[in-house]
Amino acid sequence: MASADKETKKSANDNKKAPQLCVGRESYERMNFLYQAAALMSETHPQLSATYGRLAKSIGKKAVLRMEPAIKRTLCVRCGVLLNPAITADIHDYRHKKLCYVQVNCKLCGYQKRFYNNKNHQLWLENPSSLVERIEFSSNK
Ligand SMILES: [Zn+2]
Repeated sequence: MASADKETKKSANDNKKAPQLCVGRESYERMNFLYQAAALMSETHPQLSATYGRLAKSIGKKAVLRMEPAIKRTLCVRCGVLLNPAITADIHDYRHKKLCYVQVNCKLCGYQKRFYNNKNHQLWLENPSSLVERIEFSSNK
C-alpha cells in the first residue's frame, strides 16, 4: 500500500513539473516581427525592408540565437533586404555538365550568392543526430 502511494505521488510530481521557459523568447518574437515587416516592405520600400532585415539579424547575433537556414537564406547577406524573386532579387538556375547552382542577385546592393547543388551536402538541422530534445512550449505566457 505504502509503495503504491509513493508511486502515485511520484507521478503526480512529474506531471506538476514547472513549465520550461523558452530561452530568448522576446528576441525570437522581435525577430519574427521584424522579418514579417521586412517581407511586407520588400515590394514597396526595399530600403526599409533592408533595415528591418539587418536589425533582425543583429538581434539574433546579440542574443546568440539561430535563425532557420531556410529563413536566413531569404535575407541578403550584405544589405539584409528580403530577397523577393523578381522584385528585390534575380534568381538564375545554372546547369552545366558538372556544376549546377542557383545564383541569387540582390537588386538593392548587387550582392551575388550561389547555392551549389551537391548531392552529398546536408544541412546540420536535417541530420537526425542534431535533435537532442523536443520541447513543446505553450502559446500563452
Ligand atoms: Zn543586398
